[in-house]
Amino acid sequence: MATELKSLNEECGVFGVWNDDQAAQRTYFGLHSLQHRGQEGAGIVVKTDEDRLIGHKGLGLLADVFDRPESIDELQGRSAIGHVRYGTAGSRGIENIQPLLFHYLKEDVALAHNGNLTNAVSMREKLEADGAIFQSNSDTEVLMHLIQRQPQAQFVDRLKASLRQIKGGFAYLILTKDALYAALDPNGFRPLVVGQLESGSYIVASETCALDVVGAKFVRDVQPGELIQIDDSGYHVMQYTTETQLAICSMEYIYFARPDSDIYGVNVHMARQEMGRQVALENPIDADIVVGVPNSSLSAASGVAQQLGVPDEMGLIKNQYSSRTFIQPTQELREQGVKMKLSAVRAVVAGKKVALVDDSIVRGTTSQYIVRMLKAAGAKEVHLLIASPPLKYPCFYGIDIEHTRELMAANYTVEEMRDQIGADSLHFLSLPGLIKAIGLKQDAPNEGLCVAYFSGDYPTALYDYEAGFEAPKTADDHVLAASANQPTTI
Ligand code: SF4
Repeated sequence: MATELKSLNEECGVFGVWNDDQAAQRTYFGLHSLQHRGQEGAGIVVKTDEDRLIGHKGLGLLADVFDRPESIDELQGRSAIGHVRYGTAGSRGIENIQPLLFHYLKEDVALAHNGNLTNAVSMREKLEADGAIFQSNSDTEVLMHLIQRQPQAQFVDRLKASLRQIKGGFAYLILTKDALYAALDPNGFRPLVVGQLESGSYIVASETCALDVVGAKFVRDVQPGELIQIDDSGYHVMQYTTETQLAICSMEYIYFARPDSDIYGVNVHMARQEMGRQVALENPIDADIVVGVPNSSLSAASGVAQQLGVPDEMGLIKNQYSSRTFIQPTQELREQGVKMKLSAVRAVVAGKKVALVDDSIVRGTTSQYIVRMLKAAGAKEVHLLIASPPLKYPCFYGIDIEHTRELMAANYTVEEMRDQIGADSLHFLSLPGLIKAIGLKQDAPNEGLCVAYFSGDYPTALYDYEAGFEAPKTADDHVLAASANQPTTI
């Protein structure tokens, strides 16, 4: 489902390039391919020939933020980092749009972050008590204040020491006059890859789709606990901690990442197709046609159709041109929002037993509308197959569901869910089926996947969340109009 329908949102996408004659443009195109990871704000910072950092950022889609040719042309420089944001921690003011840029007497530093820190609140309390003044309320800034307080002479040593103090899920890009750094948390929750242009210049990006779009070849996945330094002499891999345990977010494969991306060597489309095959294998329902919910469930639907041996039909159409809908307060208006984006194809579904495939159920309201829509279009039966296990537990590593009250499967049995959704039957993929379908086969618990959303088995301690700190506010109560805050040059 489109993120705006499901209210399940990834935190961010990051892109960086070192020593490229089109650094800002390249970053723009890279970010454009990562737009699915965040639509609330975007920004690019470049290193000028004078070794200072300048940037431009704003609220809204990348194309809205960079809506004048000058906004890119003014970013002259050979190295850049960029960010597209869906904020989970921190409010939605312009000050929270990244990259965050810090001007010091001797040098500038820019930071871009994807993920969520689990000790950000307690760290910030300590830092503020120590005199730190924060310019944003996003947890990203914590790292910068830590770096400034380390005693070591070299920036890279201060960075390593700081990375050891933050907890949770993070993929950071940091730009200085001397280097581009990429750091991944000790569990590798979020994807981060290194690529190389034909010219030899290096790139770091959240997903491999961003490498493809700028014509870079894949070099390697950044590994848990690694700090990569890219500078004029090439790229250097360092380990800032050896206490690592791979736990890639399984929701990246299920829902967030683009189907053409590969994460740890597993293509996202193929993984989703296999999830579809597996859920149909576990639940061999009787159906005439398979219908996937566009767009993120289409890969899984093809797998269901292959397994059931029935046609994969386009029974639902997504309006490609519908803009973002502001979350509406009444049930009726919410339903109107879904209708603006999805329509049932009467000629395809009328009189048919439909196997409806979706990637996940969060609150269940969208599934309810879609089932109702298919039945109104004449479907005889609607059997809902979910290509992932029930989402029962909150995520603290960068996804905006942090309360079980928001998750339908945490509060109802499968039969109660089926009844509320109005489907003739409801089936989920099993957890072993999910792990098998992704097929990561890493020597780690759950083959290297985080499955805490489904099992409650968190790969790390939860720090502030366990200590009872108030979790950052969740997302869908309010959406800022992009026009409320104009793009700014930073
Ligand atoms: S808890 Fe869920 S969404 Fe969060 S990192 Fe783990 S698998 Fe991903």
